[in-house]
Amino acid sequence: MATTGVGTTLIPDSTTLSGLRAEVRAFLDEAIATGRFVPGVDTWLGGYDPQLTAALAERGWLGMTIPVEYGGHGRTFMERFVVTEELLAAGAPVSAHWIADRQAAPSLLQYGTEAQKQRYLPRITRGELFWAIGMSEPDSGSDLASVRTRGERVEGGWRITGTKVWTSGAHHAHAFFALVRTAPLDPEHRHAGLSRFIVELDSPGVEIRPILSMDGSHHFNEVHLDDVFVADDLVVGAIGDGWAQVTSELSYERSGPERFLSTYRLLAALTERGLGGAETGAYVARLTALHHMSTAVAGGLQQHADVSSAAAVVKVLGTALEGDIADLADRLTEDDPGDGELQDLVRRAVYHRPGFTLRGGTNEVLLGVIARELGLR
Ligand SMILES: Cc1cc2nc3c(=O)[nH]c(=O)nc-3n(C[C@H](O)[C@H](O)[C@H](O)COP(=O)(O)OP(=O)(O)OC[C@H]3O[C@@H](n4cnc5c(N)ncnc54)[C@H](O)[C@@H]3O)c2cc1C
Repeated sequence: MATTGVGTTLIPDSTTLSGLRAEVRAFLDEAIATGRFVPGVDTWLGGYDPQLTAALAERGWLGMTIPVEYGGHGRTFMERFVVTEELLAAGAPVSAHWIADRQAAPSLLQYGTEAQKQRYLPRITRGELFWAIGMSEPDSGSDLASVRTRGERVEGGWRITGTKVWTSGAHHAHAFFALVRTAPLDPEHRHAGLSRFIVELDSPGVEIRPILSMDGSHHFNEVHLDDVFVADDLVVGAIGDGWAQVTSELSYERSGPERFLSTYRLLAALTERGLGGAETGAYVARLTALHHMSTAVAGGLQQHADVSSAAAVVKVLGTALEGDIADLADRLTEDDPGDGELQDLVRRAVYHRPGFTLRGGTNEVLLGVIARELGLR
């Protein structure tokens, strides 16, 4: 089966970009044809395949924007965008490295010490080091300033105690940035007193407990930190600077093409089977517009521009589209479920649908961000 890449005719790729796109697509077509992976839905979060990650690393498609002096490839955000779009369009299982490559690496580059960059970035590029996100807690999601995980100063470092939740892929990851309260909450300055630490997940006192999803799959976890010692050299940036760091990291988390391509394989499966007619066509049109908007965001990252509100717009519209594709496919296959491949894609899309508009910041919260940017409140 040929992958239906998003850039076939619509993207004004430069020659370099279209050459790269063709190269990635050929690799993925071959991987699918030889049964190396089965294209899926939402595989950037739940599709763990360290061998595929290693194969992508070998071709130079991880750590693309990491500078050469830190073991990376020193390429552009646009080049990375093209590669990630093709991986998503192919429904490839890329969750092993996704968070490390997408947000841990840029965050380390921006805030990490020289030693931290040297220690982690080459291994991220080689596809050997996986990362998770240690932000949410049982009573803190949208309102991250209310996190209760606390850090206490001790000789040579910090002792961290608390619980993180919904930690995607923590059971495979080597480390995460933990957002931690290091000074008591001041109601007047709620964003002050927060810090970030690199917690290596095999440290004594770390316990990772699985949370199973509705379909029985395991990608979520609860991560308990019980008096975990983190040495001073794993503090990220300055103590008390956690809020600025976390909002910057969220820009990388929210801005990518995974915010509109999670159910791309399902839309492709509908078009390949001629299902849905004009209705499916309307969804392809929405997807095309999002592709152009997301390309513009990648261009902004390239210029080191603040893309947070543009990324929020893409994420709100894109995640709504992802869910609408799941609903459309569910409806179209109600009376005739179709072949096994289609059934599997529909089933996974329907199960994963609730998460699309929640993860990385809910759409309601992002609408607030957009409204503030427009001066509406
Ligand atoms: C698939 C998936 C993967 C995830 N992976 C991770 C991960 O790896 N690491 C991690 O740290 N977290 C992860 N999360 C958690 C995610 O970031 C939170 O679920 C999200 O930020 C919302 O927080 P909450 O669940 O506590 O909901 P709440 O913040 O309690 O929100 C509940 C409801 O209230 C609404 N609401 C809240 N505040 C406002 C407001 N100011 N204005 C309007 N409406 C509001 C929300 O939109 C929502 O509908 C993941 C979540 C999902 C679904």
